[in-house]
Amino acid sequence: MESVFGVDKLTTPLNEREDIIKVKKLNKWYGDHHVLKDVDLTVKQGEVIVILGPSGSGKSTFIRTINALEEFQKGEIVVDNIALTDDLKNIEEIRKETGMVFQSFNLFPHMTILKNISLAPIWVRKWKKAKAEQIAKELLERVGIPEQANKYPGQLSGGQQQRVAIARALAMQPKIMLFDEPTSALDPEMVKEVLDVMKTLAESGMTMLVVTHEMGFARQVADRIILFDKGEIVEMGKPEEIFDNPKHERTKAFLSQIL
Ligand code: ADP
Ligand code: MG
Repeated sequence: MESVFGVDKLTTPLNEREDIIKVKKLNKWYGDHHVLKDVDLTVKQGEVIVILGPSGSGKSTFIRTINALEEFQKGEIVVDNIALTDDLKNIEEIRKETGMVFQSFNLFPHMTILKNISLAPIWVRKWKKAKAEQIAKELLERVGIPEQANKYPGQLSGGQQQRVAIARALAMQPKIMLFDEPTSALDPEMVKEVLDVMKTLAESGMTMLVVTHEMGFARQVADRIILFDKGEIVEMGKPEEIFDNPKHERTKAFLSQIL
């Protein structure tokens, strides 16, 4: 079934699906600062993982490493059967398959919304302008702001800009979407409109890794929650396990601060 966002929604139970991300014994240092310590994670197609953890625990570094925005020194990362090595061709392939949304929307200020969304597909996917713009318009429709196509980022609210950033990432037809605190820079009244788009995207079958402090979203949308602390995964489980019955002291401490 073709979903609204162009991914196939699978009806197979999660545990019978293919692994789309495999991370094994991942280690990363910044100089002599050990920021990722033997991180292991396997993600199934269509799975939604929420990453929680205190500031500085390595959450951003972890998802940026999956997208090859950061190098790593030890371990293994395989994304959709492509091994992340020094091979530039593989890095390029993995970047094409993973869309990323940041806390700061990073739109190009001097380009219209339509151009912001259609630029990468034209250059990287080699689509004709008409096709890229058609898909950009459809995506704007799906994130709820079709009327903003010809405006510039500065004319939009933060929530609208972040929805454009999501549409822009989706225009590349990624198989995986990585979100790094996508609502942290927004005024409170705009958080929901962005989370609603992410929820629809999750329901459409997209594989997602989401770093967020939005506990409602985590509980409602995540298939699995990971708790990061000091560069390690300290606990991993279903939302109800993590929230209602956390096992690790560090998870309890984190949740007691945030809830
Ligand atoms: P989080 O996203 O969980 O807040 P980060 O992944 O941003 O954590 O950071 C993990 C650790 O790595 C922190 O101690 C941070 O100071 C350090 N760090 C992050 N980016 C860099 C960098 N570019 N150079 C050096 N240290 C960094
Ligand atoms: Mg971060």
